Amino acid sequence: MKCFNHEVDAVGICKHCQRALCKDCCQDLEFGLACKGIHETNVEMLNSLIENNKRAYESQPKATIFGPLFYVFMGLVFSYYGYQKGLDSLPFILGSGFIVFGVSLFIFNKSFLKKVTTEYDTNIGKN
Ligand SMILES: [Zn+2]
Ligand SMILES: [Zn+2]
Repeated sequence: MKCFNHEVDAVGICKHCQRALCKDCCQDLEFGLACKGIHETNVEMLNSLIENNKRAYESQPKATIFGPLFYVFMGLVFSYYGYQKGLDSLPFILGSGFIVFGVSLFIFNKSFLKKVTTEYDTNIGKN
């Protein structure tokens, strides 16, 4: 495989236009190669779109709601059990910890998901 611009061996392919590039012509971006100075922004845009997709997928509503709910539920069970033994018993303290953790996880997930969705929409808008 030869470089699209030169009679030298290519080291990779531009992620945007699929042309073979030698090491002088390509710009090595984090997740792929791009024509130097020509398709760098296109490939960067593509990469950020893929990254956002991946992140949005990873933090699906299922994980956003059921994960924290599980911790809160466990916390309630522990607290109830500990409450009967006394407010300074280990299960009660653990249970309270679970509830606090579950609630903050829920709040964090919600704002995180919102941020990703907003960034994603902004990038789509630019195209
Ligand atoms: Zn290109
Ligand atoms: Zn070249």
